[in-house]
Amino acid sequence: MDLSDDVKFVKGVGPNRVKLLNKLNIFSLEDLITYFPRDYEDRSKPKKIVETINGEETLIEAIITSRMREIRTYKKNMTIYKLIVRDETDSCELIWYNQSYLKNMFQIGKKYKFYGRINKKIGITEMISPVYDTEEKNKNTGKIIPIYPTTYKLSQNTIRQIIENGLKLASGKVEETMPEYLLKEYKLLALNDAINKIHFPSDFSDFEKARTRLVFEELITMQLLLLSLKSKYKNKNGGISFSKNAKMSDIINDLPFKLTKAQLRVLEEIDKDMESNESMNRLLQGDVGSGKTIIAIISAYKAVKSGYQMAIMAPTSILATQHLESFETILSKYNIKCELLLGNTSKKKKEDILERLKNGEIDVIIGTHSLLEENVIFKNLGLVVTDEQHRFGVRQRSTLCSKGKNPDVLVMTATPIPRTLALILYGDLDISIIDELPPNRKKIDTFAVRKSMEERVNNFIKKHVNEGRQAYIVCPLVEENEDINAKSVLELTQKYKTEIFKEYRVEYLHGKMRPKEKDEIMQKFKDKKIDILISTTVIEVGVNIPNANIMVIENAERFGLAQLHQLRGRVGRGEYKSYCILKYQGNSEVIRKRMQVMQDTNDGFIISEKDLEIRGSGEFFGTKQHGLPEFKIANLFEDIKILKLVQNISIEILKEDPLLVEQKNIRLKKLVENKMQNRIEI
Ligand code: ADP
Ligand code: MG
Repeated sequence: MDLSDDVKFVKGVGPNRVKLLNKLNIFSLEDLITYFPRDYEDRSKPKKIVETINGEETLIEAIITSRMREIRTYKKNMTIYKLIVRDETDSCELIWYNQSYLKNMFQIGKKYKFYGRINKKIGITEMISPVYDTEEKNKNTGKIIPIYPTTYKLSQNTIRQIIENGLKLASGKVEETMPEYLLKEYKLLALNDAINKIHFPSDFSDFEKARTRLVFEELITMQLLLLSLKSKYKNKNGGISFSKNAKMSDIINDLPFKLTKAQLRVLEEIDKDMESNESMNRLLQGDVGSGKTIIAIISAYKAVKSGYQMAIMAPTSILATQHLESFETILSKYNIKCELLLGNTSKKKKEDILERLKNGEIDVIIGTHSLLEENVIFKNLGLVVTDEQHRFGVRQRSTLCSKGKNPDVLVMTATPIPRTLALILYGDLDISIIDELPPNRKKIDTFAVRKSMEERVNNFIKKHVNEGRQAYIVCPLVEENEDINAKSVLELTQKYKTEIFKEYRVEYLHGKMRPKEKDEIMQKFKDKKIDILISTTVIEVGVNIPNANIMVIENAERFGLAQLHQLRGRVGRGEYKSYCILKYQGNSEVIRKRMQVMQDTNDGFIISEKDLEIRGSGEFFGTKQHGLPEFKIANLFEDIKILKLVQNISIEILKEDPLLVEQKNIRLKKLVENKMQNRIEI
């Protein structure tokens, strides 16, 4: 069997399971064997029964001392099976529910290994629904067991078995991707070896080696790609010197509000960059609501008054439309012409815009990805701004830039990432930070509540909607899968629409809807034709609806703090006192700490630090929520050492062989090209 063959040919994969695997984005044998565990259970080290701890999953080795007891409970229509085992320290009662096939499985007097959750009662140790092996076997115990991210219809045992089967088929067939000289110098495992061991490590040092190898590969691919893209647009010499006579202060003094000190400082940095004859490459970080848009507007003013055009790209039509409003409000009195170009702009209008852009009648163009199309041509593009940078790849940014001659570039993001990381990811970008919110901002009161408070929360929403406000309700992240998230939105909407909020206008929004449908719903919400909007996290970015003052987040424990913060930033944008209600379940220390952080602070940078600090285990949504590049296995925060290492290696490699054409680098070239073809989000 080939790696590219359909996963349906793997033993144990029938038509039903194919569908389930497809939902996890597993289509080929290769996808299957590179579907990595999110966690591991150590079932290799047995404990004595007397040493076991309540609530812990534990391995014991014990002898059967009783016959299997069968207890019927008529109330719940259940059969309970109980078996007593003992080792030299104590005895333990094993308990299974409804598993009649176990009845004749065990021999009295024989030793077995059992793995399961311990339940301590006074004087008794129980183990609930253990898996087991005979003394000499190692099927379910005796080793480190991988835990996969999966859907509830595909059990851990099943997916583990399927992957084991897949690995047998793939054995030795995975082509090496790293050059020999790197494997040798950095003592990396061969890829075949690494893939086997990441699934079934024999001990944790095995696992570490396998993981290091895979992380190394992912990160060096990213670094090589980033660095080569950068050198492409750095090589061009000479940037634009914007005019000293186009003064930012002219517009600043006319604004309806006073800029914060942080905004003024950032503008000074930008002004300097713009006037110098080197191209500006600047990253602007600022928390949600810190006022980044006005920075873009003032920079646009300077560019246009110096005789150039300016383009700003936003990730969604809603955001772009919102920007047009803000730009026009401020710039129209300076005789600056702004236009909006969206994917669904009518053909006629579009032609007109493209024509006027080309002949220079339009000064500022605001748009989505549609700006990247080939037929978008400028007369003299001088300044490029991307908003919410993490939604775009480096490549998209450079596509837009190539429409001008070395334009200045400003990249705006609300994603607060530690500076060290920013330096590596954005390399040669200079960084400006707005670390202060405008003074009129009201604190958003945040409450973390449990299920028992549900009715009070609902009444609270009703009270505010009755007063004319609007509310968002964000659905839980069910899976890393938009299909399933969409389903949960529909279910929740059904419940709210027909029961709890039936006298209100309730609508929903999710990522699987067509862009046009999404825009329509957002527009209706903006126009106050919807009272309560139920949504997945698609509303997380930059939308400004000042009348909405309540943000409810269901199952808040499933979100990263950075993402909760982004979501919360959707409210508190107007004159009304705003609230964020985090509904959560679970009792763990980690969950409680995280809810506490959200209640205690509104500062995005503090939150992102805390997020890393109190990351719970099993948090497999990973860095996605930070808006950073996504990896299969690397974690930018944990793997910062490897990241620094591969950055240096990449620089050296490219210095010697910038296009990766030397024989020894052929494998690297292939990796980078593959990555290019996939959707990259860096
Ligand atoms: P973000 O940084 O999240 O993109 P925006 O640029 O959308 O934030 O700004 C949020 C709101 O704050 C806007 O309505 C904007 O007009 C307003 N704003 C920006 N700067 C100031 C300021 N210095 N004083 C008062 N309001 C401001
Ligand atoms: Mg913004």
